[in-house]
Parts: sequence; C-alpha cells; structure tokens
Amino acid sequence: MAQKFQNYIAGVWADSSSGQTFENRNPANWDEILGLFPLSTIEDVDRAAIAAREAFKSWKLIPAPARGEICRKAGEIMVSRKEEIAAIMTREMGKPLSETRGDVQEGIDTAFYCASEGRRMFGYNTPSELQNKMNLSFRIPIGVCGLITPWNFPMAIPTWNIFPGLVAGNTFVFKPAEDTPHTANVLVEILIEAGLPKGVLNIVHGAGEVVGAAITEHSLIRAVSFTGSTKTGQIVAQTCGKLTKHVCLEMGGKNAQIVMPDADMELALNGVLWGAFGTTGQRCTATSRLILHQDIHDKFIEMLLERVQKLKIGNGSNEGIEVGPIINKGQRDNIERYVALGKKEGAVCITGGERAEDGDLKNGWFYKPTIFINVLPKMTIANEEIFGPVLSVIKCTSLENAIEITNGVIYGLSSSIYTKDINAAFLAVRDIEAGITYINAPTIGAEAHMPFGGVKATGNGHREGGWAVFDFYTEWKSVYIDYSGHLQRAQIDI
Ligand code: NAD
Repeated sequence: MAQKFQNYIAGVWADSSSGQTFENRNPANWDEILGLFPLSTIEDVDRAAIAAREAFKSWKLIPAPARGEICRKAGEIMVSRKEEIAAIMTREMGKPLSETRGDVQEGIDTAFYCASEGRRMFGYNTPSELQNKMNLSFRIPIGVCGLITPWNFPMAIPTWNIFPGLVAGNTFVFKPAEDTPHTANVLVEILIEAGLPKGVLNIVHGAGEVVGAAITEHSLIRAVSFTGSTKTGQIVAQTCGKLTKHVCLEMGGKNAQIVMPDADMELALNGVLWGAFGTTGQRCTATSRLILHQDIHDKFIEMLLERVQKLKIGNGSNEGIEVGPIINKGQRDNIERYVALGKKEGAVCITGGERAEDGDLKNGWFYKPTIFINVLPKMTIANEEIFGPVLSVIKCTSLENAIEITNGVIYGLSSSIYTKDINAAFLAVRDIEAGITYINAPTIGAEAHMPFGGVKATGNGHREGGWAVFDFYTEWKSVYIDYSGHLQRAQIDI
C-alpha cells in the first residue's frame, strides 16, 4: 500500500476536503508508486488563504533579521538532509543524483543568502523639497502570496520564492507541481522544524486547473509567483491583471548557444552536451538551439555526434547516469510529436529521434538524446519550446547573423556564445535579447545571488534570485516627516 501524504494548512497536516488523492509515480519505473497526495479543492485553498492571512498579522511584526534566522536554520537542516532529499527528488522526477544534489544545494545557497538579506532590506532617504521636512522610503510586505511551481527544479524554484518572501514578511499558499509533491512536502517539514509559525506557509496539492486557478483567483492572495509554461503563465497573468494582483512570471525558453570559428571547440562541445542534455533537456534554460558558424559546422557536428552517442541513459538513482527519463507520458508524446514535425519540415535527424527501450528502460519514459541538423530558423523545432533532449542545429554565416537567429524567437531567457574574440563577446552581451548571457559557458548554471529571469515571452519584467526578487516580494512605503510646525504645501510653498 502506497504511503499517503497530506496538505499542510494552518499548522496542521490534513487530507483534502474531497478525500481524494492522486498518485506520484517514478518516471524511470512507471510501475513504482511513490505516494498518494491530496487532490485538493477550492475549499482547501480557501482555508489555506484564510490561515495565511491570519498568520500574516503576527509574522509581519517579527523583525526581518529574525525571520532570516529561520531561513538560516532551514538551510542548515537542508545541509544535513541533502542526500536524502536528492534521492527523493530523483525518484519522483528522474534527473540524476548529481543534478538533484545541485538542486538541493541551490536551495541551501538561497537559504543562506536570504537569511543575511534580512539584515539589509534597504529602503532609501532623499532630501525633501521643503525645509524642515524629511523623506524616507522603506519596504513593507505585501501579505499573502500564492506560489505555483513546475516540477523540473522542485527544491530550487520553491526556495527562490519562499525564502525571500518570508524574509520580506509575507505568508504563503504554495501549490507545487503534481509530478513533484514529495520534495515540496519535505521543504515544508524543514521550515516547520526551523521554527516557522503555524499558518505562515501552507501547502495545497492538486491539479493546476483547480488549485492553481483558485490561488490565482482568491481575493486574500495579493501576489502570485508563477513558474511554468508560457501558455499557463498567460492564463495566470490574465486573472491577476483583472484582479489587480502583483504577478511574477518565469516561463518558457528557446535558448541558443552560438559557436564562432575561433572558439575552443572542446569547451564548446562540453558546454552544449551539458546545456542540451543535462536534466534530459527539461530545463527552462536548456540549450535547444545550437548556432554553428559555417566554417566549423561539419567538424563540430562530427565531434558532437561521437560524444552524444556515449551519454549514459538510465535511472537517475544509479550513479554515473547522465540522462534520466522524461517526466511523464504526456511530455514524451509531446517530444515525439515535435520530432515527427522536424522530419516533416525537412530537418535531418542524425541521432536519437526514438525512445530508449533497452532492458529496464522500457519501464520508464526514456527518450534518446536527439540532434537535428539542416534546421532553418523558420521551422517549428527552431521556434517552439520542446522541453526534452532535442537539439536543433542552425548554420550561421557571421556574428550578426548568429545574433539575428538567436533573437528570432518569441522567448528570451538564456543564451551563450563561445568565442575568444572579446569584441564579439561584448557585442553578443549587448545585442542578444535575453535575461541571461553566458560567455564561454553553457546556457545553464544560475547562481542564487544573481537576478534570474527572461525577456519577451519568458517573463513579465520581474526577476527571481539575488536582490531583485525582493522587489517582487515587497511594496514601497513612503514617509514624509514635517518638523516645521506649520503647514507646508508641496509644489506650492517652494
Ligand atoms: P506548467 O505550466 O504545465 O505547470 C506549472 C504549474 O502551473 C504546475 O504547478 C501546474 O499544476 C500549474 N497550473 C496548471 N494549470 C494552471 C492554471 N490554469 N492555473 C494556475 N496554475 C496552473 O509547466 P510544467 O510542465 O510544470 O513546467 C515546464 C515549463 O516550465 C516549461 O515551459 C519551462 O520552460 C518552464 N520553466 C520556467 C522556468 C523559469 O524560471 N523561466 C523555470 C522552470 C521551468
């Protein structure tokens, strides 16, 4: 009998009001049921929002450095449970242990970073335009925040939001992805152990269309942070717009790595292998387009092909595996649809392009690392986010042409250029339309203290990570202190 897990609302672990559950299964072995989680209702979200609103009254009064201390303790607990959490995460979402350890480490880094930000939380003072008057501005919390997250970074993404949001004085209703509910519950357990008061963080599991939509629509929830596909993010944004809520959107990508003729080829090769096939290509920052200068195209493809075919595919719980399974059947179907479309539109699949089904692999959602060459910028596989181990290679004729191709998609999350020419590198930094540009490094590799997010259809101008995330999780309060003892009228008594 599979273990049964619960929601955590108002400081109590509880089943959904529906009494129904959904299964959490291992994508590397579909027969393995990892647990049953509550299939929650609008009523559950309502209870969570009310609890978070109640808890906000006292949580906002706790000094930010003391709130930060809870994050520090949470980080220490994560350090002690790192291996255990990585193993849980690999079982429920498939990426290899080396990567899930990195995901937990990102949470730890964020905990320690945010803990110390509790001692800064800067506002600023400015001179008044009138005599004997002082102007101050400082940051205040927003209130109850809704958090809706995807499955591919099930510890990192929730911590990027929850830790800074808590330090800023907010409370949360958190809905994790259906594919990674266990890692999310572990994070809640850790924060409880770290001393978080009841009601400050509530977790409600269930379907996006029910629980996610209810969070977006709830009148007590004043801000929503959403990470996921652009399609869902647009639905969330429309509702938040109508209800004048703050909304932070971190959405899809179609990231390109450019390789110029003067690049260190071995370095660029290692970069694209990690960027395109790490996390089985299921990263918002994955390299899904490789833009090769025509002078090195054929040689680079030859080198790449040899290395790709040696990548070890398998169950991420086994050490040494480099490419884990696809998250679920629906997503593998989606990849197959794109691969068929790529072939139909005239691109040439030189490796992969099929399921990996040898031995035990047939029990999971495995798919071979796939490379298309002769891809043209107008093709569907060069434009839409596939979210799988599929790399589209496009030939370019110059730096300007490479940048033009890079910018020719609706997304703008991450980007990369391999070159030894410093001028080319800086031109790329200046002209690539993306929130992140790497020089001589792959499109993946965000660090906790740097702003993270994208432009165009990837985001709506907010950033997670670093100091920038506090801009989302706070409001400004402006204070004017008049110590003149008489009426002074701004703009009139100057
Ligand atoms: P998704 O959009 O399907 O789901 C994301 C979350 O939204 C899940 O928790 C889901 O249950 C919920 N949801 C679904 N329908 C909803 C609705 N109507 N209202 C409110 N919530 C709803 O995305 P996914 O498949 O879990 O994740 C993959 C996507 O996430 C990719 O597009 C990837 O690029 C993106 N992503 C972006 C970033 C980033 O920071 N930019 C990071 C990771 C993943």
